[in-house]
Amino acid sequence: MIKPKFGPAGNSDSFYQEGFSASVDMPKWLAARELDAFEYSFGRGIRLGTEGAKAIRAEAEKYGIQLSVHMPYFINLATEEDEKKIKNIGYFVDSLKVAEALGAKRAVFHPGSASGGDRGAILQRAKVFFKEIIATLDDMNLMNVTLCAETMGKINQLGSLEEVIELCNVDERVWPTIDFGHLHCRGLGAINSKEDYAAILDKLENGIGTERAKTMHVHFSRIEYTKGGEKMHHTFADVQYGPEFMPLAELIAERGYEPVFICESKGTMAEDAKSMKDMYFSAINGLLK
Ligand SMILES: [Zn+2]
Repeated sequence: MIKPKFGPAGNSDSFYQEGFSASVDMPKWLAARELDAFEYSFGRGIRLGTEGAKAIRAEAEKYGIQLSVHMPYFINLATEEDEKKIKNIGYFVDSLKVAEALGAKRAVFHPGSASGGDRGAILQRAKVFFKEIIATLDDMNLMNVTLCAETMGKINQLGSLEEVIELCNVDERVWPTIDFGHLHCRGLGAINSKEDYAAILDKLENGIGTERAKTMHVHFSRIEYTKGGEKMHHTFADVQYGPEFMPLAELIAERGYEPVFICESKGTMAEDAKSMKDMYFSAINGLLK
């Protein structure tokens, strides 16, 4: 049975409006909404301790919620300064320790900056440093959570589809996080059809093989962009912003992919994750007709 997973990045506004505040209540809340994934953000720093993580883990296991974490936004694989490199390694080490306590399967990160020089040289530098980071994590026995390199929405950030494929090819244990909203933005409105999605999936399969492509990590939301790329995330109700999810749902169903879908809508991420799940099942039912 092919089974993608669906859930939000962080808690929806409605979670708080209903009187909940603690993440330990999140797994039960999500399960009641027929969701089975959640991404915990360490974006602005790792503020979750090991004990808190273990309490969330127990609830997540009880309610069948697969957890991932989003590592700090400060990560920059392209950095050249030794002091910053040490800090970067620290972000990985600290995130992965808590991710393990949380029972998270995946840890998403932003590759870093692509400004200030030749883009190819910056990517090469990032790949060399990434390899060093992985070696350090191996030494510390911290490579049990899958590292997922994310496609980024701003053109001056490392994280085109091609760059993410190259980072995945640094080590076969690295997985892609394909943020389709980000790819739409950095391509200044690049995703307008099922063919546009198919081209992305084909490139991914050719670049990293079908196993990792089929089980990719996905971020999805409608996003507004300017000439530099991503401007801001919107909700599924903001239909003036792309991309549309349904053509992707159809391809995922047709190709038998089983990704983890994390919805990053602004405030309605759980509700929109459920809409994504419904669209996926309507695509599956369409195939059976
Ligand atoms: Zn991200």
